[in-house]
Amino acid sequence: MGITNHAKNFAPPSTDVDGKRNVIGLSLDELTAALGAHGLEKFRAKQVWSWIYFHGLTDFSKMNNLAKPARDKLADHFVIARPTVTQDQKSDDGTRKWLLKMTDGQEVECVHIPETDRGALCVSSQVGCTLTCRFCHTGTQRLVRNLEASEILMQVMLARDALNEWPSTKETRLLSNIVMMGMGEPLFNYENVAKALRIVMHGEGIAISKRRITLSTSGVVPMIKRCGDELDVNLAVSLHAVTDELRDKIVPINRMYPIKDLLQACRDYPGASNTRRITFEYVMLKGVNDSPVDAKQLVRLLRGIPAKINLIPFNAWPGAPFECSDRATIEKFGAIINDAGYAIPVRTPRGRDIMAACGQLKSSSVRISAAERAAIDKIIAEKEQAQGLNR
Ligand code: SAH
Ligand code: SF4
Repeated sequence: MGITNHAKNFAPPSTDVDGKRNVIGLSLDELTAALGAHGLEKFRAKQVWSWIYFHGLTDFSKMNNLAKPARDKLADHFVIARPTVTQDQKSDDGTRKWLLKMTDGQEVECVHIPETDRGALCVSSQVGCTLTCRFCHTGTQRLVRNLEASEILMQVMLARDALNEWPSTKETRLLSNIVMMGMGEPLFNYENVAKALRIVMHGEGIAISKRRITLSTSGVVPMIKRCGDELDVNLAVSLHAVTDELRDKIVPINRMYPIKDLLQACRDYPGASNTRRITFEYVMLKGVNDSPVDAKQLVRLLRGIPAKINLIPFNAWPGAPFECSDRATIEKFGAIINDAGYAIPVRTPRGRDIMAACGQLKSSSVRISAAERAAIDKIIAEKEQAQGLNR
């Protein structure tokens, strides 16, 4: 399936509420036009923008630099929406996971990973994922659709609400970084992701800089350059294997865009430099991709690319066909990478106890057992057929 067809086939629904237009997710130009249609001047749109994205208001009546009739008019026609929180879980390590329900009842997960004086929000780009990476729980979810720009953005807004981090100037911020590493493949929903991120970066609103935003892709090669040219965010690439033979199996999009093409796109990534490296994610799967030979080949492959390597201990989920490499193996693998001049590369798993760690996200609260493996395989086969990845 082509990328354009993908956007059409998995299009999201509107996020309007009770016939009122949701203003979240409109660009400033769109907001200006929408308000203009109700007789509100251009500068009003700027004021509303600031109330929404800088102060985090969800209530037009509190916008006190607007006259009462203007506020009433806004409330009659528009809404500043948030998704419904259906679950709010906190891990022992402080990681927090929200299960969020959208207007059509579909659910996505969003995870906040706090550090002492900063923190990252792991944002979803799709309900489920069209792809079927074998180690990823999200990949086993049958139901898939793209998220609308507003639905992506509302995850950030909701996390800011929950962390009480409005207005945007607040000194200490636990939501300082955004990682597009939740459910879904962001480059298969590029338009919506781009629109949401542009609003996140807007200087008179949420104002999180592009340097603090990382987009992770499994390797949608034709979209990588565009992402760099237009958004200039940090890039992370889910490599996970050093031969096409293995990557074809565990990251099936490799059958469409093999390692050589993927690495060329990384070499060409606009804005990549030694001060701004591309992160290569590598999940450690016991006996599958974790040998010293793999480590040496990884170093060889990345030669000449400004790279950081992130080894991710495999996070298990019920029915998963892999185990995590043991500690000594990960350390040995890491040492080879260290010797080649890369910084300490092991990512500490966060939020495993609430299934919030990388690759554990799945909207359904029903967990699939090993006995249901066949059902999972069937889902995977169907999804790969839809993608044209069957072989
Ligand atoms: N779809 C995008 C972003 C979401 S996944 C992508 O694949 O890059 C974020 C990261 O978690 C990816 O590197 C993904 O490969 C990794 N991941 C998926 N399942 C995992 C698991 N069970 N354990 C550890 N990492 C996993
Ligand atoms: Fe999708 Fe990323 Fe999971 Fe692969 S690893 S199935 S691309 S979310």
